[in-house]
Amino acid sequence: METYQKIKILSKLTSFEREEELNFESCIYHVSVRSQKVPVLKIMQTTLCDKNCIYCAFRRDRESIPRLFIKPEELAKGFMNLYKEGKVRGLLLSSGIFGNPEFTMEKMIDTVKILREKYQYKGYIHLKIMPGVSLQTVEESVKLADRVSINIETSKEERLKKVAKGKSITQDMLQKIKYIDKLIKNYKGKSQITQMMVGIDDETDEEIIKVVDYLNRNYDMDRIYFSAFFPVKDTPLENKKPESPQRENRLYQVDFLIREYGFSFKEFLPILKNGNLPLEVDPKTAWAEANLQNFPVEINVADYQLLIKIPGIGKKTANEIIKRRKEKKISSPEDLKNIKNLSKILKYVTINGKYFYCKNTQLKLFRD
Ligand code: SF4
Repeated sequence: METYQKIKILSKLTSFEREEELNFESCIYHVSVRSQKVPVLKIMQTTLCDKNCIYCAFRRDRESIPRLFIKPEELAKGFMNLYKEGKVRGLLLSSGIFGNPEFTMEKMIDTVKILREKYQYKGYIHLKIMPGVSLQTVEESVKLADRVSINIETSKEERLKKVAKGKSITQDMLQKIKYIDKLIKNYKGKSQITQMMVGIDDETDEEIIKVVDYLNRNYDMDRIYFSAFFPVKDTPLENKKPESPQRENRLYQVDFLIREYGFSFKEFLPILKNGNLPLEVDPKTAWAEANLQNFPVEINVADYQLLIKIPGIGKKTANEIIKRRKEKKISSPEDLKNIKNLSKILKYVTINGKYFYCKNTQLKLFRD
């Protein structure tokens, strides 16, 4: 980046620095880090943004948002104070795009470098990658952070263009996701995630699931996050209806089934109505109900992959069933005592050739 351009952006930014101390504590959130909920400082390097994404609180034309820029040293120091006081255990650093993505990312990387080098902070850092940065900057981010993310937002280029002009899935985000995937293979414990919006337009679950399936199949995605649309005042979408959190939840379940349970995009097609998942029933149960011709399966012979596809059976339960049947043949529901969700499971299995499920009877499965 040209020095002149840099000075111009910096001098503009200086006017958004604050004299008074910032209240970093108000930016503490509990997020999932390596399967644990931990307090994390979730903060933006700057709330200024030159982009105008129509759903975003920080879009350029929204005048009602306070704009500020936090200098890397100030942000690093503020974080370290909270960390030393035991109030946070990690940092999630994001930003609006001010000047240009490379410049913005440079400031974020400066912050992380100060933490890693000056303060010798070795803990968790999640760094958002700004769309449009160079591969070299992506590489530097991966080296410094534990987790990086670039939000793909929508399933198709034309959809993204309508809501976030200037961002590109194919020319930018997918290229970065692929590159990050290659890089993180060289490091232990590093991960990448992405996020998709839900309900911002008429995009269907089918379109979203196709992308979820593609990402999980081709890259080592730690997780895909979904964000149900919620209207923000003073944006072009302020009068649009919020999306149901249940739709978001169903998509999380689908992502989990694809990533952890070997389900594929095609397997969800029969359960979609007008391209969307049913909200009243979870996708695994809906899938089994749409495939009742393949059930019940014999619990003594079903392999692990089949067991985990049975509604009510998770990985832990599948392993427990396999352990018990190695010890002795499972011959009645009594042999499955203390297995979670047993009355649900019984609908989809036979036990030693017999079917024990009874829809209308409240079965008393075990003697007291
Ligand atoms: S680039 Fe990011 S911060 Fe800026 S308007 Fe778009 S979503 Fe908001």
